[in-house]
Amino acid sequence: MNDCLFCKIAASEIPVQIVLETESALAFRDIDPQAPTHVLVIPRKHFADAQEIAQHDPKLAGELLALAAQVAEQEGLTNGYRIVTNTGSDGGQSVGHVHFHVLGGRSLTWPPG
Ligand code: AMP
Repeated sequence: MNDCLFCKIAASEIPVQIVLETESALAFRDIDPQAPTHVLVIPRKHFADAQEIAQHDPKLAGELLALAAQVAEQEGLTNGYRIVTNTGSDGGQSVGHVHFHVLGGRSLTWPPG
């Protein structure tokens, strides 16, 4: 995906603050944090959204969830945290490469404002 922002991040073409990485996935700090901890977890391989990765590579989807949990542990989010995956326009997805937001470090209300 030539024009995909997160593919460029995965290829180290755009610098980010990396939190954790594996052979298949990357966790880095969101550029516009909505909480004291706001980390994005992405697969290195391009999938448009949660629907697509769930259908085509559920094992990798599970690895992203495991990495998100590892991020929460490393960030010391012992009081709890939130994992969010926005999907499509109604879901508020703005970057078309699947990602999990890991948010924590403050009390998070639901539904979000
Ligand atoms: P979403 O709106 O769910 O698609 O989330 C996309 C997220 O990517 C937003 O929270 C943005 O702040 C974040 N974002 C966009 N560009 C960058 C970047 N260059 N580095 C880190 N995070 C970014």
